[in-house]
Amino acid sequence: MMKKYDAVIIGAGLGGLTAAYELCRSGKKTLLLEQHNLPGGFATSFIRGRFEFEPSLHELPGMRGADEAPGVIRYLLEDAELDLRLVTLPEAYRIILTERGVDARMSFGIDKFIDIIDTLVPGSRDSVSKYMKLCREIQDAFGYLSEKQDKINYLTVLRKYGDFVRTGSYTAEEVADALAVPQKARELIYPYWCYLGVPMDRLSFSIWGTMLNSYLSKEAVIPSMRSHEIASAFIDKIEKLGGDIWFNAKVEKINVADGKINSVVLADGEVIAASHVVSNASPSRVFSTLVQPESEIPPAACRNVNARREGFSLAVVYLGLNKSREELGLTDYSYFIAPHMDTRKLYDASYDIEATELMQAAVCLNSAIPNCSPPGTCILTMTIGQQTSAWEDVGPENYFQKKQILADTLIAQFEAAVGCSLREHIEEFEVLLRRPLPDTPEPETGLSTVMNPNPGIQSFRGLCR
Ligand SMILES: Cc1cc2nc3c(=O)[nH]c(=O)nc-3n(C[C@H](O)[C@H](O)[C@H](O)COP(=O)(O)OP(=O)(O)OC[C@H]3O[C@@H](n4cnc5c(N)ncnc54)[C@H](O)[C@@H]3O)c2cc1C
Repeated sequence: MMKKYDAVIIGAGLGGLTAAYELCRSGKKTLLLEQHNLPGGFATSFIRGRFEFEPSLHELPGMRGADEAPGVIRYLLEDAELDLRLVTLPEAYRIILTERGVDARMSFGIDKFIDIIDTLVPGSRDSVSKYMKLCREIQDAFGYLSEKQDKINYLTVLRKYGDFVRTGSYTAEEVADALAVPQKARELIYPYWCYLGVPMDRLSFSIWGTMLNSYLSKEAVIPSMRSHEIASAFIDKIEKLGGDIWFNAKVEKINVADGKINSVVLADGEVIAASHVVSNASPSRVFSTLVQPESEIPPAACRNVNARREGFSLAVVYLGLNKSREELGLTDYSYFIAPHMDTRKLYDASYDIEATELMQAAVCLNSAIPNCSPPGTCILTMTIGQQTSAWEDVGPENYFQKKQILADTLIAQFEAAVGCSLREHIEEFEVLLRRPLPDTPEPETGLSTVMNPNPGIQSFRGLCR
C-alpha cells in the first residue's frame, strides 16, 4: 500500500518548513521529509559541554519592502502565529579596522546611522543621506514587485521607482562613486558585504541597497532559544494542521514521467506517491541526482544549474568561554573586524585558507541574551567567508590542522582588535565549515554536513549533461 500525498516537501530547513506550513494551511495533504533527526537545517542549535551554540543566525532584519509589504518577522509572528520569544539586538554593529584606526559603533535606524557617520566623517551627511534614500527606494521597489507579482504596472515602476530602474545595472561601488560618498564613510557603511561574499566593485547595487536598508532601517532580532526555536515552532504548527513529518527520511529519487512528478523514493526504498514536490535541497542535488530519469530534467533547470559555480561559504569558530562577557571585556553583540575595508583585497584573500588579511563577523550571544550560557561564562562565534574551492586540496591528513590554523588566526585577530584575552578561557571549541569533494556525489546542506569532518558539496559546474 503506497502512501499518497498532495505534496511532498524535501528538507525541513526554514524554506521547507515554511512551504509545508503554507501547504497544510491551504488544506493540502502534506508530508515533510527530513534526512536528519532534527528540523531546521542551518537554523538549529548544537551542544558542546555546557554550551548550546547558535550555528548560523546573527540577526533577523525587519526586512520590510514597501510599507504595506509583509516582512519576515511579521510573517513569522502574525501570519504563521509562531510562538517565538524574539530578542531585539542592542546595536547594528561595531566596526574595527585595525590598519585604518577605525573603531565605531553603528546604530539601527537610518537617521541615527547617518548622524554617526556625519560625526565621524564631517561633511558626509549629504551624500550618505542620498545613498541611504536610494537604498530605501530600491527596497520599496522590490516590495512593490513582489507584492504585485503578475499585476505589475511598469509605468508605476518608472514613475515611482525611477532610480531603481536607473541603477539596475550598476555596482554598489559605482553608485557610491556617483554620489561622491567619501571613502571614510564607505568604510563604515560596507561591513555587511561580507555576508554576501561579492566585493563592492562587483556587487549589484540592487541587491546591496535592499540588504543595507533592510538591515538598518529597523532593529534586528534573534530568537531567545537559538534559531532552533523557529524550526520547532513551525513543526508544532504543521503537526497541529495535520501535516505528516518524518525525520531520518532521506529522499534519493524524484520520479518523473511525461513531465509530471509521480513519486519520491526514500533511502530505505519506500516509495511515496505525490503529484507535487517542493524541494528544500540544493538545486544542484535535485537536478544532478534526484530527478529521474535524466531525460526528464527540464532543459532550463539544467542550464541554470550549469551556469553557476560554487561561491563564498561561511566558516565559523565557536567558543564556549569560562568567563562572563563583562570579565572578558566583550561589550558588544556584533563585531566586524578587518585590517581595512578594501573589499576587493579581502575577497581575494578568501581564496587562501591561511590568509591573515581577512574580515570576520563575530557575535557575543550573551550581549543580546545574557542567560544563553551558564553564569560566569559566555559564547563567542567568529565567522568568515571563504571560497569552498580554497579547501579543495586539503585532505583528511591535514584537515584538522588547517581548521586549527584558521581558528588561531581569527582568535588572534579578535584579541588584538578588541584588546581582550580569550585563549586561556576557552572551555569548548568547534570549527564548522564546508569544503568541496568534487568527485563525491554528496551535495548536501544542513548542519550535520557542515559539522562532518569530510563533508562534500558537489561543484555546481557540469552536473547535468
Ligand atoms: C554561519 C551562517 C550565518 C548565517 N547568518 C544569517 C543571519 O544572520 N541572518 C539570516 O537571515 N540568515 C543567516 N544565514 C542563512 C540562513 O541560516 C540560511 O539561509 C537558511 O537557514 C537556509 O534555509 P534553507 O531552508 O534554504 O536551507 P537549509 O537550512 O540548508 O535546509 C535544507 C534542509 O534540507 C534537508 N535535505 C537536503 N537534502 C535532502 C534530502 N535528499 N532528503 C531529505 N532532506 C534533505 C537538509 O538536511 C536541511 O535540513 C546564515 C547561515 C550561516 C551558515
